[in-house]
Amino acid sequence: MYGKIKEHLNNELAAIREAGLFKTERIIESEQGAEIVVKGKKVLNFCANNYLGLSSHPELIKAAHEEIDRRGYGLSSVRFICGTQDIHKELEKKVSDFLGMEDTILFSSAFDANGAVFEPLLGPDDAIISDALNHASIIDGVRLCKAQRWAYKHSDMRDVEEEDPATGKTAKGLERCLKEARENGCRFIMIATDGVFSMDGDIAILKEICDLADKYDAMVMVDDSHSTGFMGKTGRGTHEFRGVMGRVDIITTTFGKALGGASGGCISGPKEIIDWMRNKARPYLFSNTVAPAVVGGTIKVIDLLTASTELRDKLETNTKLFRSKMTEAGFDIIPGEHPITPIMFGKYPDCSKLAVKFGERMLEEGIYVTPFSFPVVPKGKDRIRVQISAGHSTEHVEKAIAAFIKVGKELEMI
Ligand SMILES: *Cc1c(COP(=O)(O)O)cnc(C)c1O
Repeated sequence: MYGKIKEHLNNELAAIREAGLFKTERIIESEQGAEIVVKGKKVLNFCANNYLGLSSHPELIKAAHEEIDRRGYGLSSVRFICGTQDIHKELEKKVSDFLGMEDTILFSSAFDANGAVFEPLLGPDDAIISDALNHASIIDGVRLCKAQRWAYKHSDMRDVEEEDPATGKTAKGLERCLKEARENGCRFIMIATDGVFSMDGDIAILKEICDLADKYDAMVMVDDSHSTGFMGKTGRGTHEFRGVMGRVDIITTTFGKALGGASGGCISGPKEIIDWMRNKARPYLFSNTVAPAVVGGTIKVIDLLTASTELRDKLETNTKLFRSKMTEAGFDIIPGEHPITPIMFGKYPDCSKLAVKFGERMLEEGIYVTPFSFPVVPKGKDRIRVQISAGHSTEHVEKAIAAFIKVGKELEMI
């Protein structure tokens, strides 16, 4: 009977409401884009993963329409029974070529790709060594796998174990974890990392990771969801950005961010691993095919990005403009090169409330940005996370900067 848990849930919900942690959804009454309509009002959107401005791009919409007409609405099947069309194979080939990998397998989401990738490859005799700040879907994927587990302090490559002042707990560097896994006699070792960490916008130091992987005979798996399509000179991802194309063994990524933003994801890697996934990966064997419209749209994206670097170049220009002007204005910004630009509030009194107030004032100024507080980020690391897009015009970016400066002065931050 539902009765008891209803009361329990109402109490719990009241508690998170009280603590200011209840999540609400903002309703957008338009297409996703640089300009969106919220509560009947046009605002500039600076908090989507729409890095290349492709979410409502006319060519993608056209490609998706065409694929609905040619290949239908849905497949009503998992891939291996009767759910694979020519276009699914075509997309897998295009993604492999784009990422510089041998083969690719599609999933309904990157969350599923990460849920799929570990369990079929690694067992109790093996090890997964994971960056402590990895995405929730990697954490869940690792949980589903029977391999022995190590977590290393975020981007810490050292052969040390020491107290982390931030948490008061002891933390290990990657090399220490690799040593321990080898000492434990582990058969296969995999290092798993996000390519870009979404809260700080910092980029995994893949050269150092690959060097350690070589030294300890380990594989490297990178989740490049926040990079595919724009990081690196030709937008291939963090492996291109860090100069380690060909050295990363497995890449998982999403089509739900820069690559059109609809849905879908994949694992790319050596042929044997992808063949193994097609036989063993549970979200592939027991979940429905990516819809033809999404496949058609994503093929179009890869074609656009292969033909020209214009969009990722525009994104880079916009990002540089925003980061430099905001730093100049006196805001506390985590330095970097990624379009994720965190404006930090920790150094001001009552920073959580200030960040919320800031977000509200920005919306009144016609700029949509989101404040993040504990537990999404550590206590005292409250921030407004701005995400720049190639869909923003220079005027859009300048308007956002002007609004930040206006509200920053009003709230006595700068
Ligand atoms: C967004 C994201 C995902 C999830 O992608 P979906 O395709 O939406 O499931 C997985 N990993 C990372 C690092 C992400 O940023």
